[in-house]
Amino acid sequence: MESTLRRTWAEIKLDSIAYNYKKIREKIGPDVKFLGVVKADAYGHGSIQVSKLLQDLGADYLAVSSADEALELRVNGIDMPILILGHTPKEQVGRLIEYHITQAITCKAKADEYSEEAVRCGGKLKVHIKVDTGMSRLGYLCDDGYFDTGVEGIVEACNMPGLDAEGIFTHFAEADEFGDENDAYTKHQFELFTSVISSVEEKLGRKFAIRHCANTGAVARFENTYLDMVRPGLLLYGYGEFARQMGLKPAMTMKTTVSTIKIYPEGTAISYGGVYVTDKTTRIGVLPYGYADGFLRSLSNKCSLYTKEGPAKLRGKICMDMCMIDITDMPSVDVGSEVEIFGEKNSIDELASIAGTIPYELTCAVSKRVPRVYY
Ligand code: PLP
Repeated sequence: MESTLRRTWAEIKLDSIAYNYKKIREKIGPDVKFLGVVKADAYGHGSIQVSKLLQDLGADYLAVSSADEALELRVNGIDMPILILGHTPKEQVGRLIEYHITQAITCKAKADEYSEEAVRCGGKLKVHIKVDTGMSRLGYLCDDGYFDTGVEGIVEACNMPGLDAEGIFTHFAEADEFGDENDAYTKHQFELFTSVISSVEEKLGRKFAIRHCANTGAVARFENTYLDMVRPGLLLYGYGEFARQMGLKPAMTMKTTVSTIKIYPEGTAISYGGVYVTDKTTRIGVLPYGYADGFLRSLSNKCSLYTKEGPAKLRGKICMDMCMIDITDMPSVDVGSEVEIFGEKNSIDELASIAGTIPYELTCAVSKRVPRVYY
């Protein structure tokens, strides 16, 4: 496999993403559009490469978090529709119009300022209206007690001269949780969303072209929520319980190589803080992979990494640029031997669970200095 000067790299299998895309497509059927969530550098996988792939595969939409992320795609040859989910300063509205980028409208104040700026620029900004049905983050608040004002606000935005409201969407807060209460919450969010849509459409006298809400959890579990388009992220990259259930393939394998080997006597404290002390003569492999590469420090001393001889225990605290594994009983593991941090043999889901976090955090944490190698 290709390497790097430092000999730490992330292998990204675009084939696996393509495979996952096709499987999700099969699940949603031919009438539902596919929006690929490629924000945060496509969850660490490289947004330009992933977006090019999705564009070639015929995906319908992409979503990013900011104007910077959207413009980066545009200047790199991505010409398919892109939705910005997060905040854009109003001064950027002209650029969004120029580059045909769709913006989420999340409240009256944004609708006012975006419309005003679009009119000033002599254009119309394509927008998707975000409804807050219970995520309690962004969107027109339409939950109990706010329904009428929410609907009125959305209708007002749809009629603003500078806005072209192509779509409407909401975001589920608990679709990836398994309890009955979580399911009831998702059902409540969905029902509220569809009744907001009906009320707005009735008042407007027209239908939205694209209504969407299904993230990974909903794509996997709630087929009734697909509406016109689904919006998966994690599922596309092949991680998590739902990806496993659907037989999808994890796209990223993080690899490094043993850079140095040391033999320490019994009683030696390894790394900062002395949290691990050898209980016998111990052969330690030093790996050029640390928290500055994205290795969560909370995994210190708690997980194993995979060598060609199997799992080797991580010993001591993870440092900024390095970590140490115990290869005492692995004579064939030598300087230069490859070690898998996560990916194929070491599941990212498992590591995330040991760290008390979610797989999203592990792939997003892979830092800029780790080269991505695509194949
Ligand atoms: N839609 C919105 C608004 C999001 O913020 C996200 C991710 O955070 C997604 C869709 C994709 O979520 P997931 O990766 O769980 O599919």
